[in-house]
Amino acid sequence: MFFRKKDPYKKLKKLIGSEKVLDRAEDKLVYAGDASYTAPPGNHKPDLVVLPESIEDVCETILFAEETGMHVIPRGAGTGMSSGAVPIGGGIVISMEKMISDPRLNVEERWLDCEMGLKTEDIKKAAAKQNLLYPPDPSSFRISTIGGNIAENAGGLRCVKYGTTKDYVLGLKYVDAEGHVVSTGVYNTEPTPVDLTPLLVGSEGLFGVIVQARLALIPAPESTYTLLAHFSDIKHALASLHKFLPKVTPSVCELMDDLVIGAIRKHDPYPFPTGTEAAMLIETDGKQESAANEAKWIEEVLRAHNALEVHRTQDKTERERLWNLRRLVSPALSHIATGKMNEDVVVPISAMAELIERCRKIGEESGVKVPIYGHAGDGNLHLNVMYDKSEQKMETVAHQAISRCFKVVVELGGTISGEHGIGASKNRFITIQYSTEQLRLLKAIKDAFDPNGMFNPYKVLPPTM
Ligand SMILES: Cc1cc2nc3c(=O)[nH]c(=O)nc-3n(C[C@H](O)[C@H](O)[C@H](O)COP(=O)(O)OP(=O)(O)OC[C@H]3O[C@@H](n4cnc5c(N)ncnc54)[C@H](O)[C@@H]3O)c2cc1C
Repeated sequence: MFFRKKDPYKKLKKLIGSEKVLDRAEDKLVYAGDASYTAPPGNHKPDLVVLPESIEDVCETILFAEETGMHVIPRGAGTGMSSGAVPIGGGIVISMEKMISDPRLNVEERWLDCEMGLKTEDIKKAAAKQNLLYPPDPSSFRISTIGGNIAENAGGLRCVKYGTTKDYVLGLKYVDAEGHVVSTGVYNTEPTPVDLTPLLVGSEGLFGVIVQARLALIPAPESTYTLLAHFSDIKHALASLHKFLPKVTPSVCELMDDLVIGAIRKHDPYPFPTGTEAAMLIETDGKQESAANEAKWIEEVLRAHNALEVHRTQDKTERERLWNLRRLVSPALSHIATGKMNEDVVVPISAMAELIERCRKIGEESGVKVPIYGHAGDGNLHLNVMYDKSEQKMETVAHQAISRCFKVVVELGGTISGEHGIGASKNRFITIQYSTEQLRLLKAIKDAFDPNGMFNPYKVLPPTM
């Protein structure tokens, strides 16, 4: 005789609808990882996945989690690079993929209200229809969600001129650990002594589930010029950057080193000039005349600093062609070694040359490759530590190399994450940057939001806290 096992999730299914609750093994597998290459070892399948369609569904799920003592892991599209959405040790993954109502725009006041499952691209397109711009643009914008962007304070290529996600969040609604909806910033109708918005942006899912945001928009620039400059030495590229940055703020200023260019070459026939060891993708935007003048002047500076060739264009198709080279970097690098740890560090721009030199040396000493690229205009560089996964000891070696690179970053006055967050990939390194007192303060803030440690456990804080 068979006995049907009691369904532990029956109550939740009844409350919000069983079609929104996934508990089959194959469904859970889909929500076990994210895009990071350094998820901590172990099996991280969630116990349950909830796909809310309304704020009430989120509240009910949190009340259920509180009652059953389960952890809650908020999730966007899972493009995170620091294991932030990985359900370490199980729990309920709340995936926002169905909270995607059309954004509501106020053109006159230049803002929009949106739900958190919308893709960054949806936000950009909605703004563009009204000739407005939502500037934050992580390279993952076609897949990442706005909720994930807010929780990570996502940056991207236009940060150098326009800032990061935090500069565009006017107010939030989030569901707290008691299942209440809390309003911050412009959504707050009562005057409050402290605006919680800046604390929630970049909170990596530790404080609650964000369910709505009001985002600021700006007028779309009239015209844009794109330049791709090639150099025989990365030092020439950096020297030109130091010359033009104090006078002109480009809207994009991306650096790629020789290893990165080598990886791109294997996948794209773009005719890089012979001897190219570094390249910079730069854009200027704004009013037609000023964007054109700035692009022309930057080109002169690039040529005066030994650029082998500079391609300057306003043509949409040609611009897209140049951008595709930059977009290819991450996938192309995945092919140069089986192991890839992608870190994103920030240093003062004056320290970039020293950082690159010292990290390359660490790579040579450790037997790993360290290709470097990224948002050079604001000192946010992606260090990729590439190693041979088939050799057992190499993962440890790669971690040691990263740890040494992080120490150099902090020594140079920088920070170990610019935009990818700490999550569960970097929390083992966080003591390199922060003192015990600073981490205790962070823990106290976490406890104030989430006294029972329901939200996104084992993230950001070091494993010992
Ligand atoms: C190819 C590629 C390129 C990338 N380029 C960039 C780049 O240029 N700049 C950049 O900043 N990042 C970049 N990223 C990293 C990543 O896309 C961003 O961190 C993005 O913001 C994550 O969004 P997501 O929707 O995928 O979030 P997820 O990965 O699902 O989650 C990320 C974190 O946010 C939390 N979270 C998600 N939704 C909510 C919510 N509603 N409430 C509370 N917490 C929530 C999760 O718990 C987790 O901690 C890139 C990633 C890839 C794969």
